[in-house]
Amino acid sequence: MNCTRCDRTTDDTFLCWECVRGLRGQLRTIPWLVAQLQLSITRQSKLSANRVGGRSDETPVPFDERASDALDHLHTTLVRWVRDLTESRGATYTGADGTPALGMWLAHNVVTVMHSEDAGLLCSEVDTAVQHAGRAIDQPDPPIYRGPCPTVTGDGYRNLADRCGADLYGARGTDFVRCHRCGCQHDVRKLEQRMLAEMDDRLMTGAEIRRVMRELGEPVPESTFFHWRKTSRIQARGWMHDGRITDHFLHRNDPPVFRLGDVRTARQGGVDVVE
Ligand SMILES: [Zn+2]
Ligand SMILES: [Zn+2]
Repeated sequence: MNCTRCDRTTDDTFLCWECVRGLRGQLRTIPWLVAQLQLSITRQSKLSANRVGGRSDETPVPFDERASDALDHLHTTLVRWVRDLTESRGATYTGADGTPALGMWLAHNVVTVMHSEDAGLLCSEVDTAVQHAGRAIDQPDPPIYRGPCPTVTGDGYRNLADRCGADLYGARGTDFVRCHRCGCQHDVRKLEQRMLAEMDDRLMTGAEIRRVMRELGEPVPESTFFHWRKTSRIQARGWMHDGRITDHFLHRNDPPVFRLGDVRTARQGGVDVVE
């Protein structure tokens, strides 16, 4: 099979991992983009209000049309794709209202996107909307979202560490990012791994899970994976039927899907790794 975005060969998905990485990066920039667009809309409307001496009852409230057009474009694009994935792939929308939440939900559901025939179209539409937003705020190359700052700031409830949590953004192609709140510097590669780990509740086929585990730096050999299945260390949580996850077996060719978190737990206990 080939990637519907760049034509690279994939293992039975409509999107290759390079394109998934690119898409996820763009989606994670959306909260920042939306904040910048809104800032620019308010700033512009204040500016214009001052210019007319505050007599806003005589003139229509001016606003930054460029920014608000870009915001509309971004919102419409995301709504359409979230709707498409929930209707055609059986995904459930669990996010809040608003453009940033839609973007983050898609970022969390990239595995579902990978199984959608329209994955390539989704990528190019998101790319166009994100670039439109970047131009509207004169930031053609917006920084990339790297997740919440993981710096431990104290002992929280039941020894679960309190963390700084400030949103981290870094320029494209940089290996380190500095937190504006606590000043700590973080390795982008490690932050990326933390974000992948958030995917613990995702259901994926064995092949997908092994690939994600490799990305996480927690590789599981195929033989070990089969051994864990045979000994019930990990169990199927459903089946993939026509690209959709079902909770019962529909066809003998349907591959079983597993919970990423189950496999990671099995690996942590990982004494009987079979090579
Ligand atoms: Zn690709
Ligand atoms: Zn911080």
